[in-house]
Amino acid sequence: MTPVRPTLPVTPPPSVVPGTETHWHSSWGFEVETSLYSEKGQRVVVLSHGAPAAPGVVPLVRIHSACLTSEVFGSTRCDCREQLDEAMRRIGAEGAGLLLYFLDHEGRGIGLEAKLQAYALQDDGHDTTEANHLLGHPADARGFSAAAHVLSELGIRHVRLLTNNPAKIAVLEDAGIQVDRVPAWVKAYRHAQGYLHHKRTVMAHLK
Ligand SMILES: [Zn+2]
Repeated sequence: MTPVRPTLPVTPPPSVVPGTETHWHSSWGFEVETSLYSEKGQRVVVLSHGAPAAPGVVPLVRIHSACLTSEVFGSTRCDCREQLDEAMRRIGAEGAGLLLYFLDHEGRGIGLEAKLQAYALQDDGHDTTEANHLLGHPADARGFSAAAHVLSELGIRHVRLLTNNPAKIAVLEDAGIQVDRVPAWVKAYRHAQGYLHHKRTVMAHLK
């Protein structure tokens, strides 16, 4: 029998920042409605395509952490840009879905300055976890609870989550949202291989 996870006490939902609900046409070839949520200093850009909250729809959802270095500058040290591209491609192909983009998650939540310092330590031979610890940060400082609150506020109780990260699955399930996992594998650059191996072997990411 599948154990039933307890539903956490009700927490205040994140609020939409007033006046931020708008829309645009994406270069991926489809329309998105957008809004900005904010919860305890965590900003989440929500991109919605189609009707992800319609009755009977189990929408494809991607919870994604901002990564300036790969998504803007094309760094090949990680696979964030490829994961984001894959999420947008799949959402467009399915005709409905949601991207929850965490703006304040740069460097797995340690911020751009510390992320660049961690890269420099990795250049000296430390792995990503060691580098974060040397800087006084945890291996992963991100929290995803705002994602559960956004989905709940949108009335979505069952999702197909595009992820390899068990922490993202757990945070939704703990909030009583049913999760079907969709593996998020993309072709990675050669320079990112060590980092991806580390995510699987040390940080418990799923295959
Ligand atoms: Zn990245």
